Amino acid sequence: MANYDPNNIFAKILRGEMLAYKVFEDDKVFAFLDIMPRAPGHTLVVPKAPARTIIDVAADDLTAVMKVTQKIARAAMTVFAADGITIQQFNEPAGGQVVFHLHVHMIPRKNGVALKPPLSFKEEPAVLSDHAARLAAALKA
Ligand code: AMP
Repeated sequence: MANYDPNNIFAKILRGEMLAYKVFEDDKVFAFLDIMPRAPGHTLVVPKAPARTIIDVAADDLTAVMKVTQKIARAAMTVFAADGITIQQFNEPAGGQVVFHLHVHMIPRKNGVALKPPLSFKEEPAVLSDHAARLAAALKA
């Protein structure tokens, strides 16, 4: 397995070098909207500590990521009037991973609505800002 590359996009987001539509942050975890959402509210949850995949991540960081993923999934059910939630997590190119900092996808779903294909649609900044603000507010409530 390749080493962690500190210049991956999510490492840059964590260092504040790139804009992100923040949903939630604590001492171990950062969550932000996917800018190419497969459905409205598509959120990425990452550990702050460097980790390439589920293979090298520390167990406590993975636990923290999953706890935050559950918290955001609960909020998303209400905020996006979701009927369900899809959770995805990809490891290495063979596993479908494109960005090499471990992340969990949290995707709100509606009955009968298919996911958009990956990387097929770039959402408007105003829409992403609105969705991030609504999710963040629900998480604080
Ligand atoms: P994967 O590594 O296959 O789990 O997918 C990486 C995900 O990151 C894709 O869903 C992209 O749409 C998303 N993505 C790529 N660049 C950014 C970015 N700058 N901000 C938020 N999401 C991103």
